[in-house]
Amino acid sequence: MPARLDEKLEPIYQDVLHRNPGENEFHQAVHEVLETLGPVLVKYPEFAEHKVIQRICEPERQIIFRVPWQDDQGETHINRAFRVEFNSALGPYKGGMRFHPSVYLGIVKFLGFEQIFKNALTGLPIGGGKGGSDFDPKGRSDSEIMRFCQSLMTELYRHLGEYTDVPAGDIGVGEREIGYLFGQYKRITNRYESGILTGKGLGWGGSCARREATGFGTVHFTQEMLKARNDSLEGKTVVVSGSGNVAIYAMEMARKLGARIIACSDSSGFIVDEQGIDLDLVKRIKEVERRRISAYAQEKSNAHYVADGNIWKTPCDVALPCATQNELTGKDAKTLVENGCIAVAEGANMPTTPEGIRLFQDAGIAYGPGKAANAGGVATSALEMQQNASRDSWGFDYTANRLEEIMVNIHRNCHDTADEFGSPGNYVVGANIVGFLKVSEAMVAMGLI
Ligand code: NDP
Repeated sequence: MPARLDEKLEPIYQDVLHRNPGENEFHQAVHEVLETLGPVLVKYPEFAEHKVIQRICEPERQIIFRVPWQDDQGETHINRAFRVEFNSALGPYKGGMRFHPSVYLGIVKFLGFEQIFKNALTGLPIGGGKGGSDFDPKGRSDSEIMRFCQSLMTELYRHLGEYTDVPAGDIGVGEREIGYLFGQYKRITNRYESGILTGKGLGWGGSCARREATGFGTVHFTQEMLKARNDSLEGKTVVVSGSGNVAIYAMEMARKLGARIIACSDSSGFIVDEQGIDLDLVKRIKEVERRRISAYAQEKSNAHYVADGNIWKTPCDVALPCATQNELTGKDAKTLVENGCIAVAEGANMPTTPEGIRLFQDAGIAYGPGKAANAGGVATSALEMQQNASRDSWGFDYTANRLEEIMVNIHRNCHDTADEFGSPGNYVVGANIVGFLKVSEAMVAMGLI
């Protein structure tokens, strides 16, 4: 049972529970934001008067559709896909598409809801949305993935537009899938509209540093949290969950800043390499060969693999959860704190359970919530949109520097706002309030939308 909220906010939360039955992840994401908004309503009573919170909790539009496709043996499969266009007060809906068997409306809505605040935090003109499908890409051939993407886009295309809704990747959706989706959009519409998707390949409208952005950004945020405590990543041991897009580039930047990465994982288990994870090997296994992370220990004799194990039992200074929601529980948080962990930054969305977050905060360690710490991905997507709109493409260093500046700003805003609202060092409070104020002010200015 989550803690009871302030008297103005509890009825709003009860209404969300009532209107969205069974959507547990969405309830969790809303609760986490509402928990921090009490002092905002005291300072700005107009937001209660205009029912801004109730409006933010209700998506502007939700699209659910059938995706029929054939596998390589000619058998027909039916999947369900979603696009939740949550809030467009600050710009076109923006947020990734996730392909994973666990996807249902509650997951898409939690992700879309988080995305509203995250996108506002970047300071760039993007609204919040998210989508996905319960399609499982594991073990599927390239042709099967292509047919699935084509079928999905055959419905989705009519809802997209550079000024309307601009999807990107997420779990199970990388450059390959974005390519198939973009190709089908182009074919159906007979228009080369680069701005309708981000995460594209570099040769056809993509942005330098987009692939690296979420992981790099998470580590920049971690470094800023440590700097605020007169510390840095130099010489620290780091454990990273996942070995997908976010995890790989978080490891790359952490290593660049002098840390030693000792463990990473996938959904089957984790590897430990005390000498420091060999990133070139991880990239080959995951990005090129699309194999399981266990292959790492087969190729490196000094590393070991733990099947079905709990990566958070590996002692470390810094933990970066970069896999999926609720992967780090209260028990895991307790273990990390007892093992001397000093900082946690979320590359994934909502990876820490509410109990875990409380434990980190009570222990006084630096804790960066996903909506701030992983905002570098969507920020660089917005930079990709800028490049597409001006038919330009920027170099890697220029784009990566802009990403770093954005992350430093996000950290500063969250840090200073937490101070202003009486919760110094609490980045959850800072991130929620900065994002909420930006969106709410725009919504009030635009009248009853
Ligand atoms: P990928 O699909 O590239 O990688 C996901 C990784 O997490 C894989 O190693 C996967 O293992 C593991 N994983 C996925 N589901 C589970 C699960 N249920 N239990 C254990 N491990 C799991 O996705 P991304 O790296 O893009 O995304 C990772 C996280 O980062 C997600 O929470 C996403 O929402 C978030 N994020 C991503 C952004 C982006 O730009 N890509 C932007 C901001 C946030 P396996 O291969 O075995 O499934």
